[in-house]
Amino acid sequence: MIFDLHSHTTFSDGVLTPRELVERAADKGVDVLSITDHDTVDAYQTMPLELDAVRVIPGIEFSTQWQSLNIHVLGLNIELHSDAIQAGTKLQTTARLERAQRIGENLAKMGIQGAYEGALKLSAGGYIGRPHFAHHLVVAGTVRNVQTAFKKYLGTGKAGDVRQHWADLPQIIRWIRDANGIPVLAHPLKYKITRTKLKRLLDDFIEAGGLGMEVVSGQQQAQQTASLGLLCEQKGLLASCGSDFHRPGSHWGELGVFAPLPDNVIPVWDRF
Ligand code: AMP
Ligand code: MN
Ligand code: MN
Ligand code: MN
Repeated sequence: MIFDLHSHTTFSDGVLTPRELVERAADKGVDVLSITDHDTVDAYQTMPLELDAVRVIPGIEFSTQWQSLNIHVLGLNIELHSDAIQAGTKLQTTARLERAQRIGENLAKMGIQGAYEGALKLSAGGYIGRPHFAHHLVVAGTVRNVQTAFKKYLGTGKAGDVRQHWADLPQIIRWIRDANGIPVLAHPLKYKITRTKLKRLLDDFIEAGGLGMEVVSGQQQAQQTASLGLLCEQKGLLASCGSDFHRPGSHWGELGVFAPLPDNVIPVWDRF
């Protein structure tokens, strides 16, 4: 069985509609899929999403910060219509808009005018994030490509890296638990922190009610998987895996294409 518990649609920064995503998952042999858009569950309004070949687990990827780092927490198997998810996504959507305004102000201070308006237009009234700013900067001719936009203006430590608007880690975890979901720390290797710091993050995550971590996120080295598996076991967490699929044919992972979980961990789907 292939479980892919991390993916994105047009309702955040993916390029496939929910239906296209589920169909592609079926094509790629995925048995169980979770759509985990950034801070929104709107993809699930386009029900029914299930195909005979694919079971869909309701999910979300919440943005938050921990010690000045951008951290992502998946909520898996959540009750979509719960008060907690409804209230949580509403607050995060407001936070995204405020943050986008701030990103626009910061870019304006650097002489780049109209970025907020440009990004807002591209977002078409839904999720607004740094990918929209990147896209706008490319269209406006400020940078050659999205990678350069992140490198110069939007990535970690740059003008567009505005963090202080998200709900904090304990709040995010509370929303997921209140919705009877499982909070899972997403892609632990993406934060580029030392193992000591990652352990501290996991301790705070667990203390706040976190229950799982992604042991496999897209294609990673076997040694990294083994190391995360060990950490997962040591911390008594459930293990998850997913591609973090955003679009076909890019450096982002393909649906269902990643190594299986190591034998020493308990898969998160034991609790679905
Ligand atoms: P946001 O949710 O607004 O913080 O935007 C973060 C999203 O931007 C991530 O989920 C990625 O999809 C995308 N992203 C982050 N870094 C890069 C990069 N270097 N190149 C392209 N996309 C990126
Ligand atoms: Mn993304
Ligand atoms: Mn993420
Ligand atoms: Mn993601």
